[in-house]
Amino acid sequence: MARKFTLRSRVTPESLAFLRELNAEQMAAATAPGGPILVVAGAGTGKTRALTSRLAWLIANGVDPSRILLVTFTNRAAREMLDRAELLTPEDTSHVWGGTFHHIANRLLRKYGRRVGVRPDFTILDREDARDLLGLCVTEAGVPVKERRFPQKSVLAKMSSFVANTLAPLADVLDERFPDFIDDGEPIAEVLDLYAKRKRQRHLLDYDDLLADLRTLLRDHDDIRERLAEQFLHVLVDEYQDTNAIQGEVVDMLAGRHRNVCVVGDDSQSIYSFRGARFENILGFRDRYPDVREIRLETNYRSTPEILRLANGSIAMNTQRLPKELRASRPSGYRPAIVPCHDHLMQSRFVAEYVLHLLDEGRTLEDIAVLYRSHWHSTEIQLELSRRNIPFKVRGGLRFFEQAHVKDVVAFMRLVHNPQDELAWMRALQLLPKVGGVLSRRCWMLVSEAEDAVQAAQGAEAAQVFPRHARPFYGQFVELIAALDEMDSPADIIGETLRGFYDDYMTSKFENARMRREDVKGLQAFAEQYATPEAFLADVALAGDFSTETVVEGPDADDYLTLSTIHQAKGLEWEVVLIPWLAEGYFPTDFAINSVEDEEEERRVFHVAVTRAKDELYLAVPQTRRSQSRGFVLMKPSRFLTELSDELTEPMELEQGLPELIAGEGPLPAAAPAATPVLPLPDPPPT
Ligand code: ATP
Ligand code: MG
Repeated sequence: MARKFTLRSRVTPESLAFLRELNAEQMAAATAPGGPILVVAGAGTGKTRALTSRLAWLIANGVDPSRILLVTFTNRAAREMLDRAELLTPEDTSHVWGGTFHHIANRLLRKYGRRVGVRPDFTILDREDARDLLGLCVTEAGVPVKERRFPQKSVLAKMSSFVANTLAPLADVLDERFPDFIDDGEPIAEVLDLYAKRKRQRHLLDYDDLLADLRTLLRDHDDIRERLAEQFLHVLVDEYQDTNAIQGEVVDMLAGRHRNVCVVGDDSQSIYSFRGARFENILGFRDRYPDVREIRLETNYRSTPEILRLANGSIAMNTQRLPKELRASRPSGYRPAIVPCHDHLMQSRFVAEYVLHLLDEGRTLEDIAVLYRSHWHSTEIQLELSRRNIPFKVRGGLRFFEQAHVKDVVAFMRLVHNPQDELAWMRALQLLPKVGGVLSRRCWMLVSEAEDAVQAAQGAEAAQVFPRHARPFYGQFVELIAALDEMDSPADIIGETLRGFYDDYMTSKFENARMRREDVKGLQAFAEQYATPEAFLADVALAGDFSTETVVEGPDADDYLTLSTIHQAKGLEWEVVLIPWLAEGYFPTDFAINSVEDEEEERRVFHVAVTRAKDELYLAVPQTRRSQSRGFVLMKPSRFLTELSDELTEPMELEQGLPELIAGEGPLPAAAPAATPVLPLPDPPPT
């Protein structure tokens, strides 16, 4: 029997003027009366525009906004789409149910949560709270953490989250994601059970519970599911490729009655498998909705044909993907440029100077983005930009030097370099297990009175400050700082801090230890060019000073360059995109090189990066790393470039000009630029 959908018609040609900005396929997606719609299409083909127009079209046609559910990946994206829809139609959009999955789960559980044992006044645990509660559960469960290396609370949180999001058994999750702890399955399960129990008792929900409880509510309570499914006449989902199993199910249940569900996504941009996202949700959509109307968008409106050819050529190397055709609609432009840089310092200089060059050519800073794989890739670039007074904003997350793990490692160098640095002592001491603010302060008071604090810290009196169970850790600390005290090279100091303490600390403390280890290694590589801790610490301290608020200068304070990780750049676009660190082990990162799946996910990350560019794309390839001890260390160009055929790109040659005279001009006065020594450069190595 055919389904019916009757529109109340209040539509005038003017109220639908926005439809003229769509092509035929987008129009089909935007104005389909209902039923399941799947738009799987490449980057820049106007998926988000089509979805936003659909929202506006539905409202213009009299669909009650409170009966529309719009789900996106971030609250910001949801806000932007709603604002845009508001502009497109004169109708009020404020009652649309728009937001992220968590946002929507929160709303529904406040109302109906009692049915699954959730009181309406439940408290949401943020990530920090969740970790603290897990810590208490470890103690309560009586796990002998002193005798063995047991995952720290944040790692436990990650495990709990992975189990919740993938619906996989704990054993499988440990096996695949946390092999270091494979033998601890039993106590881990015990702690996680206790955690779940305590949350229930105290009416606490962590982020994963929000989703899981919503799923349980909808699955086990037919009346509620039917009521909500009746309410949501239309369900719209952007970035569908990054939904995980639970989110996929929730969408299906909420759309279960009217089956007016429109999802858009691009399997080639699926980059969140580490959070349990599965682009199988896209593939499965066809099976779950056999009557699906599939709409293809094949015209790319964003990028020049040259940039598209490179994007297509690259993603074609992946075996796991849906075949897609992308047609360029824009006129021809420059070919993407590969910029071999003699070393990483030259790379940062290139980025900064090229940005200035683009400004000379009439671009504004807002038109330009530097997109990188790992946060630390922006370290030197931030320094270079600060030197030249180029305002920039780092999207998402802290600036490199403000991150906890970077500050921790630097604290050790600071305290041996300047034993009177109270903050450094306090910070470093509190990293020790069982040592908090009180003990650290006591220890600091004692050593600060001595002639030589590092020496005093090694004495018996200082050790007495700590209770017996903390003493072995303090012993380790003392050994480390004694070793550091003998060293001059900042890179060696960082290396030793990592080896002698911080590496273990990270493994047990942080769920994303791997990424952080990369950051610290990056910091070490960065430090190799400095001969003394003094020079290094001065530059680091100065870099920290240039918060965007204080640097922004020039005629337009809103105008700044964007620095962003690629993950944070999803869905966005810029005229010019520069991607640094295209070297093996950096992009792709080390950990992505081992399995085919990881390599393919990494290539999708590269695909997201290059498809952000509208007009110009620059791919910088550092060829060596400068190291104080070993001179120049060779790096291999990224496989993502070497696997491409030559005619997709064009090489750009950097010439070494005269030494720049930047002293006195920028925010850094004459003494500072230790990071850009003008060294005689040897011939580039063969690649
Ligand atoms: P991504 O996969 O990166 O999220 P997308 O498919 O969502 O991309 P949009 O962001 O909607 O693509 O659109 C990309 C660009 O193309 C935007 O600048 C948008 O304004 C423009 N655009 C979309 N559709 C059209 C069209 N029919 N005519 C002209 N420009 C369009
Ligand atoms: Mg989009």
